[in-house]
Amino acid sequence: MKVRGVAQLDGLPPLREVIARHGLSARKALGQNFLLDLNLTARIARAAGDLSRADVLEVGPGPGGLTRALLAEGARRVLAVEKDARCLPALAEIAAHYPGRLEVVEGDALEIDVAAQLAPPVKVVANLPYNVGTELLVRWLSPPAWPPFWESMTLMFQREVAERIVAAPGGKAYGRLAVLAQWRARARIVMDLPPEAFTPPPKVRSAVVHLVARAEPLAPADPVVLGRVVAAAFNQRRKMLRAALRGLAPGIKEHLEAAGIAPTQRAEEVSVAGFCALARSLAAGEG
Ligand code: SAM
Repeated sequence: MKVRGVAQLDGLPPLREVIARHGLSARKALGQNFLLDLNLTARIARAAGDLSRADVLEVGPGPGGLTRALLAEGARRVLAVEKDARCLPALAEIAAHYPGRLEVVEGDALEIDVAAQLAPPVKVVANLPYNVGTELLVRWLSPPAWPPFWESMTLMFQREVAERIVAAPGGKAYGRLAVLAQWRARARIVMDLPPEAFTPPPKVRSAVVHLVARAEPLAPADPVVLGRVVAAAFNQRRKMLRAALRGLAPGIKEHLEAAGIAPTQRAEEVSVAGFCALARSLAAGEG
């Protein structure tokens, strides 16, 4: 069956034409690798689930390929944060085409917090600029209180970063990012994209990760203590934990044993639940 593209569905001009008309040559410093295939952006929008009852936060709409797909797929409302002012006229055309459903905020997503402008349930969907993607993900996973403002996030990353988010214990990809992400969310890779999917093509493959916020973190733990334990453990990931964590607290061997972790194990062998148990033992010791 031939799938009709969003280009036909939404009646807006092809993205190449939009880019040419508004002079949106891609800028490397802004991490601009555009998705021009509206069938691809529709697939990403669909991977986010039912948008019809959700406010969507999109970071970096650029010329609007993903924005258009989110709206065509029925998003109740899209709030898009874009740093590059050159993109605003192109995005204004999309907003005019979908009255009252698209709002664009010009600014740096690392500096402005738009969470308060969104009504729940909120889905974050973005083809993130690679230079800020991981930092934004870590912030969205580390709000002052849980649950966070978002119920799911569907985000593009370099394939290597996507693998670090979903990694299971036992491999090189498993580290701080996996523990943080999986402690607070269910995460899986839902799409794999080759460099040629983008204009201009980046050097590496990309992947879309879908994260669903857990109502409660996977196991109880104080986020600060857990963060400290995981950072120390993976900073010296080749060492046995009794050595890597020596500076963390007196009697670390006993804390490891209380958490059901052999002191001779290495960080990458410990499950998320194991790190939480260790954080609880250390917090009890401190308290
Ligand atoms: N969503 C578009 C697409 O899929 O074709 C563009 C994606 S491109 C990888 C990343 C976008 O993020 C660019 O439009 C860039 O200008 C924007 N951007 C880069 N840094 C940003 C920041 N700190 N805050 C907001 N937007 C940013």
